[in-house]
Parts: sequence; structure tokens; C-alpha cells
Amino acid sequence: MLNSKVKKRPIIRLEDKIANQIAAGEVIERPSAIIKELLENSIDAGANSIDVLISQGGKAIIRVKDDGWGISKAELPIAVCRHATSKLVDNDISNVNTYGFRGEALPSIGSSSRLTIKSKTVNSEEAWEILVDNDNIKEIIPASLNVGTCVEVRDLFFKTPARLKFLKSDKIEQLSILDIFKKLSLINPHISFSLREILPNGSDRILANYKVLSKINSGNYEYYSLDKNKYSERVSQILGKEIFQNLLPIGFSDDNITIGGYISLPTFSRSTSSYQYFFVNGRFVSDKNLASAIRVGFSDFIMKGRYPVAIVFINCPNDKVDANVHPAKTEVRFQDLNYVKNSIISTIKSSIANFNTKTSSEVSDGMMRAFKKNSFSHGRLSYSRDNQVGQKLNNYSSDLFRDLSSRNFQNELSPDVTTDNGLLEEIDETLLSLGSPVAHIHENYIISQTENGMVIIDQHAAHERIVYEKLKKSLKNNSISSQALLIPEIVELGEERSDIILKFTLDFEKLGVILEPFGKKSICVRSTPEILGEINCSTFLNDLADELLEHENFSVAEDKLEQIISKMACHGSVRSGKKLKLSEMSFLLRAMEETPYSNQCNHGRPTFIELKLKDIEKLFNRN
Ligand code: ADP
Ligand code: MG
Repeated sequence: MLNSKVKKRPIIRLEDKIANQIAAGEVIERPSAIIKELLENSIDAGANSIDVLISQGGKAIIRVKDDGWGISKAELPIAVCRHATSKLVDNDISNVNTYGFRGEALPSIGSSSRLTIKSKTVNSEEAWEILVDNDNIKEIIPASLNVGTCVEVRDLFFKTPARLKFLKSDKIEQLSILDIFKKLSLINPHISFSLREILPNGSDRILANYKVLSKINSGNYEYYSLDKNKYSERVSQILGKEIFQNLLPIGFSDDNITIGGYISLPTFSRSTSSYQYFFVNGRFVSDKNLASAIRVGFSDFIMKGRYPVAIVFINCPNDKVDANVHPAKTEVRFQDLNYVKNSIISTIKSSIANFNTKTSSEVSDGMMRAFKKNSFSHGRLSYSRDNQVGQKLNNYSSDLFRDLSSRNFQNELSPDVTTDNGLLEEIDETLLSLGSPVAHIHENYIISQTENGMVIIDQHAAHERIVYEKLKKSLKNNSISSQALLIPEIVELGEERSDIILKFTLDFEKLGVILEPFGKKSICVRSTPEILGEINCSTFLNDLADELLEHENFSVAEDKLEQIISKMACHGSVRSGKKLKLSEMSFLLRAMEETPYSNQCNHGRPTFIELKLKDIEKLFNRN
């Protein structure tokens, strides 16, 4: 109960002044929200160049100056009135192609600060200035300005100390300003933006400066076109060259939706999701669902707790999306969210599948610079399939997986198939991409000699990818073979974990895992996939339960299955610490050459690195 002593009183219409103040709380709760509104007004006014100046995190001064078409003297007092806008065509709010249309920003700002707007239109000889002091229009006087508009907001919330108190420190408000500034600059690469801060000593400092340099962005600009060339310069300015070098373009288009932008290479990730940007029809949005689509698209490639960089531009017809859930909020509602998510996931996957000869440039310094995390065209190593060598390898490669993962292999009892096939004698393995294995060190790394250098392979990481891709393929062909356990194994998991596993009984069956409930808390395992060899059923099911519980809200069944097999692959892989014979190493390398994405494990780590002979020579100062 707020105040039980209040008496009944007549209903009256709020005065404009009060209404403005109430609306202001919604639209401009902090300096960055004002910057957003003012930048959007300048962009809507066709500006080519926008300069922002702030002081004390925007609390003391915010000034936004543009070279747009300006506001005439007669329109200045109207612009600061509530619900006054030039942007609604035929009163149709379903078809708005500008940022603004509500006519709320300027009156809201005027009701909670000292606001001055200077402006000059092309048709006017003079510039004019209007001053609004805490919602009172003071005067309109001549000013000096080139064509364009300069809006200055001073002493934000000076009449409402309660609001002022809710603002964060200058530093934090400034970070929030920089964030919104970057987002609007990113989606408007045809406009030059600068942001400066006035320091306490009166001098100023550049915080960000994004110029239009490329021809493609000057002149006639098609709004929010998804041509990646239009964005490359700005993305590089905002995220930095180093990140930019590690990005892959994405692109997808059909009748309902067009998606463009960039994602990072799977081997390049960040520790926070703050390098992910989403735009829908030119507006920045923040949406959990879109972020989860990125996660799913990368689930084969990235470690837990790491985030890919992603800049995703989505264009779709206005009737398929509602981006105006709230004036100052950045939520979005799609008519068919799953369609959008699936489109994002599939464009990410195909972009990664198609990337060639590009690999993460993130290498440690010094000697490590000479090592190259390798990459191959279309995500796989290649050798000519026409020649005899290729043919021979093809003939036996189908048996490789079973041999690699089988119990025999695990027990080091496998016959030396290489010699049986006479392969070593007949072909020069050094001519193949991953070369001929010469040594096994620290029980996990294979050293291999190639035609013009050497390769070091992480056996566990490599084998995990091989098993994973193999499982994926068998799943697709419905050909995963299952092997019955001699004695079915009972695994105690607890109720919650048993339940989640049993929910997927049918999916597991497709994967060759036959399960049934055993009491409420346990599960009986009858068969496991043959390709995994002998596994520890208890850790296997526990890991899978963890995975399923964590990703319980996956909407796409297919992604869930992939998640499951990714986890399964880990269990079927040769562990580090396992001694390998030369013939077995050779198998592994040849299998890698045949496996898509085998340059990285399921968690996005590289599976091998390469050192060229000329780099080795450099290290010894031999050239
Ligand atoms: P909205 O943007 O929703 O129309 P605002 O209150 O932000 O509402 O602005 C009111 C009007 O003032 C706009 O419709 C536009 O005509 C004019 N205006 C505001 N800022 C500028 C600017 N920088 N350049 C030209 N016109 C502007
Ligand atoms: Mg506006």
C-alpha cells in the first residue's frame, strides 16, 4: 500500500510538462540513451559526418553535431514538442524506415536538462538556435553554423536529483556511451563518426574516430545493404585489425530473410560475448535467442567458456519482425524465431566448412611464430585422388577407424597393417600433407616429416575429430553399428540425470547406445557404438547427462544429437599417454587427411602445427 490516506479525486489530463518528465524516464534513463537518440536523429537527417563531444560521462555535457539537412527556424519549436515528428509517412507505423518516429526524444531531453539546438537548412541564409531550459522554451536567436544541426545537452537531470543518483560513475557511463557509439557506427559504415571527451583541464581527447575511407561507402548509399565489402572497413576500425584478420564472412538469403556479417575463425575466440553484435533491419538488438544460435553454430568448434566473435546483420520484411517492443530497449520479436535461428546456424556452419587456407593468426611470439597452425582447403587435407597413391589409400582407409579405435588397437595387439599392405614400401608418405611419422614423443605427440618441413600432431585432439566426423557420417547414413556388452552394465546416476538420459533413449538408439531404465535412479546399458571400442559406461553416461542438462533448452533436435556425439567422440578417442607404433601413427595421419575439419578438435583447438624447413633454417641462422 503506497499511501492509504489518499482521498478520491477527479481524473484530469496530465500537463505536457509532467507527461514529458514521465516519458523521459522511459526514453533517456542515462547519458548513453541520449547519445543513442541524438545519433539516430542525425543519421535519419542524412548526415555524412557526425561528431560527438562529452564531459563527465555525458552527465555535464553531451554535444552531437551533424551535417544533415537541418531544421528550419519555424520548425525548431515544433521539434521539441511532444509527439512531433517528420518521420511518419501516411500515419503508417508498420512501415517505418527511420530510427525515429515517436517524436519523444527531444521533448524528453528538454524536460530533464538544459537543451540547445542550433541548426541551419540548405535553403536558409542563417542558422538559428533554440534554448529549452527544463521544459521551458526560452528563446530563438540567430546563431552561427554550417548546414546541419548541433544539439547540446547540459546538466542532465539537474532538476531531478533522484534520477541523477541512479547514474553510475563517469567512467562507467562513458563505457556505455562508447558501446552504443560503436554499434551505431558499425551499422552505418557510410557515415564518419568521431567521439571526444573534454578533460578536467579543458583540453579534449579522442575516444573513437571512424572515418569513411573506401569509395564503396561514399556517395549513393543503399541503406543496410548486406554487401560485406561495405562493412569490412568499419568492422576493422571498430574491432581492430587483429580481430578483423581472423574473421570469415557469412551470408544467407531467401525470400524471407537475408543474413550477412562476420564470424571468427573457430580457432579464434574471446573470453566474453561482448564481441557479438546483432542488427535487425539496421537496428542494434540484443537477444538471447540470437546469441544461442551462435553458440549452436559453433558447438562443434569451440571450448566451453569461450565465445566466437560475431557480427550478424539480419534483414527481413517489416511484417516478419517487431523491433519496437520498447522505445529504449533493444529487444526484437520475430514471427518465426526458429526459422531465423536455423538460418543463422546453417550459414555459420557452411561458412566454416568452406573456409580455405585461412587460419587463426593468433600465434605466440618468438620461435612459435615459425610454427603454423595448419589449414586446408574446404576444411580437409587433400591429396590427389587421381594418382595411384590416393587410390591405394582410399582402398584401405575405410578400415582405419575400426582399427584405430578397436579393442585390439587399445591393447596394442593390432597386426602391423601397414606392412601387410606393403604401403610403406610402395609410397613415399612424406609427399602426403601430413607426411611420414618418424617419432612419438611424450606419449601424445607425433612428429612427422613432410616434403618441406615437419608437423607435430596432438594425437588425442586429432583422433577425437576423426571419431566425431565418422560418427556424424554414420548417423546420417543410419549406419552406426552397435556392439552388445557381454554383461549389461548398470550405472547409477540419480533421478534427475537418469531422467534426462532416458528422455533421449530413441536418439541414443540411433547412435548405437541401447539403454533401459533400471529402477528410478539407474540405467542399464546393453550396447555401445562399435566405433568407440571399450568405454567406461559410468563416466560416459555421466558426461552425457552433464551435457544434456547444460543444453536443455536447445530447440533444434539435430544440434542436440551433434552435441551428444561430440561428447561420445571424446570417449572413443585415443587418450594422450597411449603409446603408438609407427604403423598406427601412419593410420592416424592418413585418416586425418581424409576427415573434414581435422585441423581442429571438437573444442576448437588445433590438432597439429607445422614448421617449414626454411623456418627451421631461420631458427639456426642458416640463411
Ligand atoms: P523522432 O526522431 O521520433 O521524430 P525526435 O524528438 O527525436 O523525434 O525529433 C523530432 C523531430 O526533430 C524529428 O522528426 C526531425 O524532424 C527533427 N530533428 C531532430 N534532430 C534532427 C537533426 N539532427 N537533424 C534534422 N532534423 C532533426
Ligand atoms: Mg529521434
